[in-house]
Amino acid sequence: MEVLKNSIDIKIEIEKVFCNVCGEEIKKDIYGYYNDYIHIEKEWGYNSDFDGEKHSFDICSQCYKKMVSDFKIPVNGE
Ligand SMILES: [Zn+2]
Repeated sequence: MEVLKNSIDIKIEIEKVFCNVCGEEIKKDIYGYYNDYIHIEKEWGYNSDFDGEKHSFDICSQCYKKMVSDFKIPVNGE
């Protein structure tokens, strides 16, 4: 015999995404999918200016375009 109890599963999902560079909200299309963006998570190791810190941020495609245009060496791409 199984004795059941009530339980609630809490699901954590992304409600909104903001670009850390321009501060604008990254919108969803009419199908509910986010316009593509970059999400970066970095745990800094020793021999860095951020020993042990965990950083994360998001960048919209417009800000990414501006950022990579300043690179001295272009991004690899197909
Ligand atoms: Zn942006």
